[in-house]
Amino acid sequence: MGELRAGIVPVTPFQQNCTILFDDVSKRGVVVDPGGDVERILAAIQDNGLVIEAIWITHGHIDHVGGAEELKAALGVEIVGPHKDDAPLLSNIATQGRMYGIEGARNCSPDRFLDEGETVSFDGHAFEVLHCPGHAPGHVVYYNRAAGFAHVGDVLFSGSIGRTDLPGGDHDALIRSIKEKLLPLGDEIGFICGHGPGGRFGDERRSNPFLV
Ligand SMILES: [Zn+2]
Ligand SMILES: [Zn+2]
Repeated sequence: MGELRAGIVPVTPFQQNCTILFDDVSKRGVVVDPGGDVERILAAIQDNGLVIEAIWITHGHIDHVGGAEELKAALGVEIVGPHKDDAPLLSNIATQGRMYGIEGARNCSPDRFLDEGETVSFDGHAFEVLHCPGHAPGHVVYYNRAAGFAHVGDVLFSGSIGRTDLPGGDHDALIRSIKEKLLPLGDEIGFICGHGPGGRFGDERRSNPFLV
């Protein structure tokens, strides 16, 4: 088993950080949140000689799942996550696409929903599943303890937090998710988020204006 690596392909007009997590030796990995622009995701996979084992979803917003079914059809892999509380959002993706003017977005039917405390893995890299509602009711975070790394989707951003004005949003729940589940993992934990640059939990704990 080699080192865990992450590559980012910004997708959709929302510049969502579609993330390819992979092992730098075996080149096996997963695609997190293929929101759209599937041709570009496939090109990144091919250019880097990667073998994709699954598609992991953080939550049911169009910029994160709009391309999931198309990518699944192209790769022949399963869609895993998010938590089942996002099922209503996932069956509303095509409508979201028309609202935001994004063509080709398809409703998403995951092969498997995830629960708090489960572990998902590829090629020996294990990620704990943390159910972190607030931005979306079924939002999950993927946490790799060995690498001190978390993919937090739209829960937490560098200097900001996820919006809570969309259907199912809940500001108090979001703050609880961040303060009770993410920050206790430790200041040194590095994160990739759904939009913009990532960071470290310690910097957010100390200076994120929504948390201090
Ligand atoms: Zn979102
Ligand atoms: Zn997003």
